[in-house]
Amino acid sequence: MSVEVRVPTALRNLTGGSATLTSEGHTVGAVLEELASTHAGLKRHLFTEDGKVRNFVSIYLNDEDVRYLQREATPVRAGDVLSIVPSIAGGTPGAVAYPSLSRLRGTSGTGGAPTPPRALTPEQMKRYSRHLILPEVGLSGQRKLLDSKVLIVGAGGLGSPLALYLAAAGVGTLGMVDFDVVDASNLQRQVLYGTKDIGTAKLEAAKRRLQDLNPDVKVAPHEVRLSSENALDLVSRYDVVVDGTDNFPTRYLVNDASVLLKKPNVYGSIYRFEGQVSVFDARKGPCYRCLYQEPPPPGLVPSCAEGGVLGVLPGIVGSLQAVETLKVLLGKGDTLVGRLLLFDAMGLRFRELKVRKNPDCALCGPNATQKGLIDYEQFCGIGKETEEVTGHEIDPEELKTKLDHGEALILVDVREPGEFEIAHLQGAKLIPRASLPERLGELSTADDLVVYCKMGGRSAQATKFLLEMGFQKVRNLKGGIDAWSERIDPSLPRY
Ligand SMILES: [Zn+2]
Repeated sequence: MSVEVRVPTALRNLTGGSATLTSEGHTVGAVLEELASTHAGLKRHLFTEDGKVRNFVSIYLNDEDVRYLQREATPVRAGDVLSIVPSIAGGTPGAVAYPSLSRLRGTSGTGGAPTPPRALTPEQMKRYSRHLILPEVGLSGQRKLLDSKVLIVGAGGLGSPLALYLAAAGVGTLGMVDFDVVDASNLQRQVLYGTKDIGTAKLEAAKRRLQDLNPDVKVAPHEVRLSSENALDLVSRYDVVVDGTDNFPTRYLVNDASVLLKKPNVYGSIYRFEGQVSVFDARKGPCYRCLYQEPPPPGLVPSCAEGGVLGVLPGIVGSLQAVETLKVLLGKGDTLVGRLLLFDAMGLRFRELKVRKNPDCALCGPNATQKGLIDYEQFCGIGKETEEVTGHEIDPEELKTKLDHGEALILVDVREPGEFEIAHLQGAKLIPRASLPERLGELSTADDLVVYCKMGGRSAQATKFLLEMGFQKVRNLKGGIDAWSERIDPSLPRY
């Protein structure tokens, strides 16, 4: 007998690229044990140090969460499919560097009593005619949309199709939260922006584009970092929140604020070729914490900046979120409440899993212990890793001096091979971070090691790991190869 195990893209670098594995185990626990022993790297992703399945990993037997079956003791039969579904953030750990200034501005006074149903102008009749002839929307539905207020958190890959389609559909007020500036590397997927917008604040460019697309729509830019201080105020002004974030702290914050304020949260996340979509509405179903009680430790789940993302993927996932948002606003159709939709662009497959309300959920369960917002950076362990390597860092300038003096240094590049190919430091040895544990034998504790990655985040984790493994003479290149090309060698391409 054999059971098929589906491995998500985020973990495939630990299974030699395999998307499916087979196992002879008779229980879920036995299958997982077998995977952990045949693929050493998977072990720390799947299990905590005391051998429990980690909370940010959901294990599904066919379409059921094993937590609601018999957990690890759940029997498996030939032909069953076991899926590992980890939480994915879809962002750049480096980009979690939030600006410290977070004063709320650009708010639009969208609160107050709802206005009575509006009459559509002849221009609006024409603009929305394809909606008006749909019985599921019609005149009353279009009025509803025009009176609706949607908050989109994140104006990036997911936020782009979301904002474009919701504005085109005539959602009356679109709040957008972001504080980023348009960068050339955004244009491969963030279709809200054009080449002329490079260097402009995203919300400024977005507002211009959306206003051109549909002057009916009031765009409310909130050029702030969503934080525990402002989230409740912001979210309370809108009917629906759409999660287009790229990092775990903001994702949990969006979830918690929407649960506390009893608002629907239309969730989407992406990684490489894979996406997840759901609608969390704690009044009717589970919340994000019911699915993933806690985030992965920083660095364990690769980010889009490390793994990349197919340009079209956020277009598909963001468009699905836009569909769900319109259905929620119209009160029509079967939304994804209680269901998690998985999309795999490589195999071109959609799968659907049940998500149940977790009776022990700290936030939306009957015995909820969390009554307010918390410190999400601390909850997600952000900043801890880098703190611990302070004292084991080197500046690009210092490294340059040492290399110029001919000091014997071993440069260790912990990025992915594709990144190495774009640019690397001369003589560097490529050991991608995920394979560091297996390839430790290639390094010597007697050598002076300088570890680098793109921005310094992954290499900080690698440095911490090497220190734990007894390497004393190891240092992390501050700012990564990006700082090196900016300050030392501009001939190295930046990406
Ligand atoms: Zn919950």
